[in-house]
Amino acid sequence: MINIPSYIKDPSYRYQMPALKIKVEGKGNGIRTKLLNLFEVSRSLGVPPEYPLRYFGAEFGAIIEFKQSEQKAMLNGSVRGEDLKNSLDHFIEKFVLCPKCKYPEISIRIKKGELYSDCKACGEFRKMDMTHKICNFILKSPPPGATKITPAKKPEPVSAKPKSSGKKKSKALTLKNPEIVECLEILTSEHELARAGEILTNLSVSKDYEADIKAYLMFKGVFNSNLIVHMSNPIGIQILKNVANGCPEDFLMGFACVYGNDEAWKSKISTAMFHFYNNDLLTEEVFDNWIKDDLEFNETSPVYNEQALNWVKTNASEFLEWLKNAEEEEEEVKEENEEAKEEVKIEEIKAEETKVVKKDDESNLKVNETKGVVEESKSTKPGDNDKVSEGITKDLMSQLNNVEDFDIDDI
Ligand SMILES: [Zn+2]
Repeated sequence: MINIPSYIKDPSYRYQMPALKIKVEGKGNGIRTKLLNLFEVSRSLGVPPEYPLRYFGAEFGAIIEFKQSEQKAMLNGSVRGEDLKNSLDHFIEKFVLCPKCKYPEISIRIKKGELYSDCKACGEFRKMDMTHKICNFILKSPPPGATKITPAKKPEPVSAKPKSSGKKKSKALTLKNPEIVECLEILTSEHELARAGEILTNLSVSKDYEADIKAYLMFKGVFNSNLIVHMSNPIGIQILKNVANGCPEDFLMGFACVYGNDEAWKSKISTAMFHFYNNDLLTEEVFDNWIKDDLEFNETSPVYNEQALNWVKTNASEFLEWLKNAEEEEEEVKEENEEAKEEVKIEEIKAEETKVVKKDDESNLKVNETKGVVEESKSTKPGDNDKVSEGITKDLMSQLNNVEDFDIDDI
């Protein structure tokens, strides 16, 4: 173990970490520096391993590879262990040590899009130096507890909610809450869909991010005007699925809150609904209940907007109509299938009958009589399917030929 940071010489220092172990692998362009125990080191520092890795990437101008699930971290190219050790110390100075007491006791906090160090040892709360590249990444992927939605202290102006007078007093939480706004900014500034999805997922670290807020943040911050485009991307569908799962009402509320009453979206609502249905995000049952006004929307949610929901429903009529017809058609197809099955059965029975006829032929028919059977099989089944009759005739004719051949050879 070495001290945090490594240049502190006190052998009995209480803050220690494992020395970073590396392994350079590969040749030529494929050469890579594996950081074998970065996850362990990061645990000692109390930071997500992706922070120091991205710091190294920026410092050495190296492409990074990071796999949380496999605990893998590496840099493209060959980097010396000594250089990494010094770089890690710089990272520690910036993001792990308290600027005042110099102990590695800080928690990183986010306030209004800026990073703060919150020291548990001396109580110092200070804005961090935001000049390094990875600050943006930290803002987008904050450590657990860095942001937490707390209800706004100021009560809402009365004029903002004229219609809720009769209902029980709703929470002060509104979509203008600074921390919701902050999350939205972070999500909006992330242009890579997969990353935005991860950030959204990480928001669930705080229980204050209820499904309704999350649905709103997803539609507004992750998809916004690109919703339809992103729905052709499996990543986009997965993000939607994570939010829709188990919370169809919140999902619809979030959707209506963002796209409802927006004239530009009027013609796209049905398309969006079709994608939701087709990708199993919202089931037929949900749509049925919505039509019947049987969905239970949480009317106290800041995301709830009755008028927007009605607007969406009205403009989804093309889809809802299609769904209704599709259901009816499905039933018709079912019936047709039943009928088809019946027909198959009848044909099977006929085939059995044919077999019986064949057997009879083989066992005891003489050449002359066989012709009679052919005629008989035709005449005894009036109205039968022609194909079946034809089949029987062909079978019998070929047998007849065989019998004749046999007879001739035999003689
Ligand atoms: Zn301190």
